[in-house]
Amino acid sequence: MCGIVGYVGFRDVSDFLLEGLHRLEYRGYDSAGIAVMSGDEIVVRKRAGRVGELSQFVKDNPVKGKIGIGHTRWATHGATTDENSHPHYGGNGEVAIVHNGVIENYDSLRRKLQQLGYVFKSQTDTEVIAHMIAHHLAEQMKLEESEPSVESCLRAVNLTIDRLKGTFGLCVLFRDCPDTVIAARSGSPLVIGVGKDEYFLASDASPLIGYTKDVVYLADNEVVVLQPTGMKIAHRTTGSVRPSIQTLDQVSADIDLGDYPHYMLKEIFEQPTTIENALRGRLDEEEATAVFGGLNITAQQLRTIDRVVLTACGTSWHAGLVGEYLLEEFARIPTEVEYASELRYRNPPMGDRTLVFSITQSGETADTLAAMRECKRKGHPTLSICNVVGSTIAREADGGIYLHAGPEIGVASTKAFTSQVTVLTLLALFLGRMRHLSYPAGKRIIKQLKAMPEKIEEALKCHDRIQEIAAKYCGFDNFLYLGRLYNFPVALEGALKLKEISYVHAEGYPAAEMKHGPIALVDEKTPSFFIVPRGGIQPKVISNMEEVKARKGAVIAVACEGDEEVARIADDVVFVPDVEEYLQPLVCAIPLQLFSYHVALMRGCNVDRPRNLAKSVTVE
Ligand code: GLU
Repeated sequence: MCGIVGYVGFRDVSDFLLEGLHRLEYRGYDSAGIAVMSGDEIVVRKRAGRVGELSQFVKDNPVKGKIGIGHTRWATHGATTDENSHPHYGGNGEVAIVHNGVIENYDSLRRKLQQLGYVFKSQTDTEVIAHMIAHHLAEQMKLEESEPSVESCLRAVNLTIDRLKGTFGLCVLFRDCPDTVIAARSGSPLVIGVGKDEYFLASDASPLIGYTKDVVYLADNEVVVLQPTGMKIAHRTTGSVRPSIQTLDQVSADIDLGDYPHYMLKEIFEQPTTIENALRGRLDEEEATAVFGGLNITAQQLRTIDRVVLTACGTSWHAGLVGEYLLEEFARIPTEVEYASELRYRNPPMGDRTLVFSITQSGETADTLAAMRECKRKGHPTLSICNVVGSTIAREADGGIYLHAGPEIGVASTKAFTSQVTVLTLLALFLGRMRHLSYPAGKRIIKQLKAMPEKIEEALKCHDRIQEIAAKYCGFDNFLYLGRLYNFPVALEGALKLKEISYVHAEGYPAAEMKHGPIALVDEKTPSFFIVPRGGIQPKVISNMEEVKARKGAVIAVACEGDEEVARIADDVVFVPDVEEYLQPLVCAIPLQLFSYHVALMRGCNVDRPRNLAKSVTVE
């Protein structure tokens, strides 16, 4: 949540900052702003609303300079107004800062600063940081009776950080040290792009694409001083850090919309390829198992694991539920799926042989990171399933599996979900083959997995049919999503997608649980989406469909190609290819993603920027 950019060098900084904010807008779009060193002043341009509005504002009121910072906000403290937009000045304009995160003790700090005479212009928690840095700088200047130096600016930042409780990624400009940007992180991500006589800074690597391939991921408790002539990183307790420069392998095409009207639609249609990428190089046909490069854990250790905990939030948590069924069925390992936001504060019994997997698209989700750190602190091996290479969770986990799905920019996760499920299937195969899963069974799973990209391609052919269904139902305000076994998490995910981008109330339930409560909601105004492909308990789900019909509820069914029985009972049916039950979540997710996309469009919602949400939830 929230995107930060920064730059020191020789380019026209406004252009870089605005382009960077556009690329980061998926992280927050309540407001946007930039601060630029212009002459001997820091000039701020900021606006509530989208980056596009800021761009227009800057076009009308240009600001020239070669050093600057920018921010796109996901508000935590204070309404989405111009005043609360970042950057915030500190003191009388001696500093300007942008901040990602939450300062938990802001209220007491604010009162102290007000007593010292600092005047607050916003309701944000962030503004205390700006005034505190200005205050510490002024105190030093009084003592030293000199102009601020880089050292005194750095000291002011460090003294301020020492007093903060909460999380932050910070980026600071100093009026009297005009060639310097200082950035610091604790809990919120920052990556530095290294150029020739220039440095870039951003919350993730997307603004750097096309500018540099050399990046340094800042770690927690590190502070960096950037000047066109060089950068210095120091850890707040252990001192100077030698930067480890890594190579960025993303290209601009990864973040372009191409011919698609929205990132969400582009990402839905990328799924045949992203699933193929998740499988690439990971199928060992000879041994009928999966192979992973970066688990960093021996086969002997894995053999002794007697419990798996999958921890995640949101859509990744739904993928985890599919993972639970897969791991228990194929590998016979007791598996639990924990909300990371709960696990981080719970103290469940976990034995020596419990393996913890964090599942996260961004690798920055604050709750997932905290839950993983808590498990790691207790000594459990912690692995991650993650999309963003070099993200905090990927770096801090003992090992892991990348999704290789490419940047997911649409706020509603689609391709990451199916890639997570694919990787969890591989993991279940891998752990299963170390235990009870036979060679022929492994062979069969591999054969079916290999066919999945093609099956997803086929599933996507339901697009036209889904548009018709969406047109028929887009005016309804309540939906039930019902499925059983592997399709229960799919029901949850379908309901979540609809809520996220269409603002339509939807509840996902195991189909059979419906009669214990949700059936009371059924009437002619509440349609039910049944995920009812062929399989062992399909007749039971068909009975549930009849129960809904009997109460005048409309039924929309996702069924296997040619399933006449379901087609006869349902009011509307959409077909997907017939695959093994454990692979049904992959094909059944597709029509549900497309349905929420079209309902959102038809209701006039902003599909890629749904209200109140942001991608990469880096606050608690
Ligand atoms: N807490 C800050 C605010 O509400 C920063 C939020 C963010 O990370 O965008 O302004």
